Amino acid sequence: MPDSPAPSFHRKPLTGPEDLALFGAPPVFDTPRHVNRPAAPDRAAFDAMMDAVWERRWFTNDGPLVQELERRLSAFLDVPHCVLTSNATAGLDLVMQCLGIRGEVLLPSYTFISTAHLLALRGLTPVFCEVGTDMALDPADAAARLTERTGAVVATHVWGSPCDIDGLGALCDAAGIPLLFDAAHAFGARHRGHPLGRFGRAEVFSLHATKAFHTCEGGLITTCDAALADQLRLARNFGFSGSDRVDCTGVNAKMSELHAAMGLANLDAFPATRAAARAVHAAYRDGLAGLTGLRLKCPPAAEDNNHHYVVAEVDARAFGLTRDRLVELLTAEGIWARRYFFPGGHRSPPHAAANPGLSLPRTEALCDRVMLLPGGGAADLAEVAEICRMIRFVAGSAAAIHNACKAG
Ligand SMILES: *Cc1c(COP(=O)(O)O)cnc(C)c1O
Repeated sequence: MPDSPAPSFHRKPLTGPEDLALFGAPPVFDTPRHVNRPAAPDRAAFDAMMDAVWERRWFTNDGPLVQELERRLSAFLDVPHCVLTSNATAGLDLVMQCLGIRGEVLLPSYTFISTAHLLALRGLTPVFCEVGTDMALDPADAAARLTERTGAVVATHVWGSPCDIDGLGALCDAAGIPLLFDAAHAFGARHRGHPLGRFGRAEVFSLHATKAFHTCEGGLITTCDAALADQLRLARNFGFSGSDRVDCTGVNAKMSELHAAMGLANLDAFPATRAAARAVHAAYRDGLAGLTGLRLKCPPAAEDNNHHYVVAEVDARAFGLTRDRLVELLTAEGIWARRYFFPGGHRSPPHAAANPGLSLPRTEALCDRVMLLPGGGAADLAEVAEICRMIRFVAGSAAAIHNACKAG
């Protein structure tokens, strides 16, 4: 289990707006509580691996720890091929290169901006699509934007929940184009009983420090396509297939042994980390139950979500305050709630300029309503209880707070 420090916060009286940090009272937390505090694995296990790395003087270039982590991830995710990379963005870029994707690529606007950026940098055209009620790429909307110029679809398993894999699969099969998944959030989750990783042509996980399973920085491409896996291995190392033989163009997207050691230690801890994250999520669910205008996203048990993200939707009218005001109030208390994925890819520079007048109402509503709360396996349950107490107080005093904000 990752260590968490003794909870340290000011359990202050909450009677009126004057008790809030936004209006000058001391904050609940002296130091920020972030939405995803990184997991920190057993240090002794990591150090033992480092001793072996020093002994070997083999720090990178497909070292034994990278190979071991790829083997263990293949077993854990039950997928034939795992290719580790320096990060997920570089990994998805390698997939685009190796599949020779051209033209337009359909993606949800409601996702992390990295995908739109890498498409643009690769000379591809990101085509932003609308989300369904599950917050993920809507196959019907994607179908409406598909043209003979469409080269691929990149869908996100947003908040770790599988997107409509079957619907998108049917669409891409009919069009004869590859379906790829941004699985950055989704390590360990299942679709129809199978771990994510084997779906579409390839899936790409982020192993960044803020994710459910991490290597500090890192990415993981999973695929059932052996030829693609071979190509990815060449392309992540300048195209080298031998010490002085280059087979194709490539970049440096390799993972180092230090990062792989972090991954091996974190993989051992992952079942405990996931259980802790589930307990944190359940504490939020109980602590925020019954609030009007604030709805927590609760993944169904069957998907085995890693529960790394605590996602709330704020309906300003019903809650009595806007999502942005709530985020501002919480941030002043040291509770660094975050809006996501604000403002949406199609409204974000530089992509907004290429999409003048594009309106994606469901995406825009999410961008204006969704808030992430400090969660994950490294969060502290006593602190979560205090965060819930604060949110309940704000909800109950919304009118008074609204007036105090106007007066201030
Ligand atoms: C974190 C994240 C990425 C980027 O991953 P990196 O490993 O930092 O490149 C991409 N997509 C989503 C949905 C993410 O959350």
